[in-house]
Amino acid sequence: MKKNNGKMSGHSMSIEAKCEACQEIFLIRKNDLRSKCFEVVSLHPAEIELLYYDCPVCRKRYFVQVKDDRTKELFNDLEEASTFLGCREPGKTEAKAKFDKTRKELSRYRDMLKAMHEGSLVRDNENDCSYELRFTK
Ligand SMILES: [Zn+2]
Repeated sequence: MKKNNGKMSGHSMSIEAKCEACQEIFLIRKNDLRSKCFEVVSLHPAEIELLYYDCPVCRKRYFVQVKDDRTKELFNDLEEASTFLGCREPGKTEAKAKFDKTRKELSRYRDMLKAMHEGSLVRDNENDCSYELRFTK
């Protein structure tokens, strides 16, 4: 059971960012975030999907989030639990407990993934570029 389309909280959300390389200040909107598979080529070889944006001026790449099979699984569980949040007791309490537990697990797992790959070299096989992975806080 899946809900249609992942959605971001809030409407036309944008975040102001400042490029560390060229000092440009720019807005990041949802559409500026891109997601692609990268190959981790150091310590912990893996295929991970990274969410990133580029500085519009100097093209410096900023990585913001990581996904792999486990995060996708947890994300699906989270969406499934959220579809039951609107139902009546006692289903609601159960769904809420599952939702909270899964959300915690997802956040814990993502932090672990980030810590594991932080500083690693990731390769973009499409354009043969490698980047040192530093997650933007
Ligand atoms: Zn820049």
